[in-house]
Amino acid sequence: MTIRGRMQILDNYSLKRLNTFNIDVRAKKFTAVRSNEDVLYLREKGYFEKGSHLILGGGSNILFSTDYDGLVVYMDSRGREVVENDGESLYLKIMAGEDWDETVEHCVSMGWGGLENLSMIPGKAGSSPIQNIGAYGVELSEHFHSLEALEKSTGKIRTFSGEECRFGYRDSVFKQGEKGRYLILSVTLRLDLTPEVRTHYLALSRELSEMGVTNPSIAAVRVAVMRIRGRKLPDPKVLGNAGSFFKNTVISREDFSIIREKFPEIKYFEEAGGVKIAAGWLIDKAGWKGKRKGNAGVHQDQALVIVNHGGATGSDVLGLAADIKESVMDIYGIELQEEVNII
Ligand SMILES: Cc1cc2nc3c(=O)[nH]c(=O)nc-3n(C[C@H](O)[C@H](O)[C@H](O)COP(=O)(O)OP(=O)(O)OC[C@H]3O[C@@H](n4cnc5c(N)ncnc54)[C@H](O)[C@@H]3O)c2cc1C
Repeated sequence: MTIRGRMQILDNYSLKRLNTFNIDVRAKKFTAVRSNEDVLYLREKGYFEKGSHLILGGGSNILFSTDYDGLVVYMDSRGREVVENDGESLYLKIMAGEDWDETVEHCVSMGWGGLENLSMIPGKAGSSPIQNIGAYGVELSEHFHSLEALEKSTGKIRTFSGEECRFGYRDSVFKQGEKGRYLILSVTLRLDLTPEVRTHYLALSRELSEMGVTNPSIAAVRVAVMRIRGRKLPDPKVLGNAGSFFKNTVISREDFSIIREKFPEIKYFEEAGGVKIAAGWLIDKAGWKGKRKGNAGVHQDQALVIVNHGGATGSDVLGLAADIKESVMDIYGIELQEEVNII
């Protein structure tokens, strides 16, 4: 059914191509939005009230446990605009449906610094604040300026500052108190006109020296990050996955000292508020690396990544995840938390 210009609501739509786990599920109804006007039109027509709906970006942080019994709204709004340049920083407004890595590539090619460590993260720009994407020693929040979001119930467009987003480790207000309330329309990032590269992350500095780079540019950092990621992470086009399935677990220093007495070799990172335990290490040491359960499995090199070997259902993946959680709890007394959104 065409509801407005080229906007269509399609029935019984396959989502297999639209989730990086490659889970073969269908949406009862599906539409793609290409502008803020499309989003506002959907709201005006009551589509955000009629039964359930799901906002879908690149589908790289989602696990569909079953067919979706509602409307899937695919974010396909495009455009990037420099909204301010104060000589030191440049402010780039990015529409939610823009591809994240194309945005990083664009910034690096323009010589605007800040996002290069976040190269090759799948997904859309509009989803990037939701879990405050992070990699190789940098988090989105460090270059975030603001975002515009539609409050679906009232139709009001609200601007959120970084503080109002309450960013944390793979976390923001959009995963907590305000979950499901807003549709992010655009994100504005602050980029450095005189970039300072950040190479403190050990794997990154090692890669740069292996590349023979002593005085890295942001372009060299992007290449180094892409080389590491290309080696370490399975390509979803080849092997379905959603990156890290679980978050690293942050615990208090007191709890950590008890665990460390029992497991002195435990892998961890010191944090301001406590100690972050490497969840991949816990899963690996619990014997899960490379294990398979039906068509779902734990990646052979990255214990934090659950993969679809082909034909896995959402329940297969969830079953495996539950077994992993149980065994990590039994061995270490640590409760793993999913990073992926389970739908
Ligand atoms: C191989 C691989 C590597 C990865 N590496 C990293 C990494 O290094 N660091 C990292 O942080 N993440 C990583 N991820 C996870 C993922 O790429 C990010 O979380 C990404 O930001 C998800 O974007 P998306 O557009 O695919 O979101 P989706 O999966 O489509 O959606 C995620 C959630 O956001 C909601 N949502 C999406 N768009 C909007 C919007 N416009 N408004 C409101 N809600 C919305 C959805 O409803 C859903 O709940 C990786 C994933 C893969 C597959």
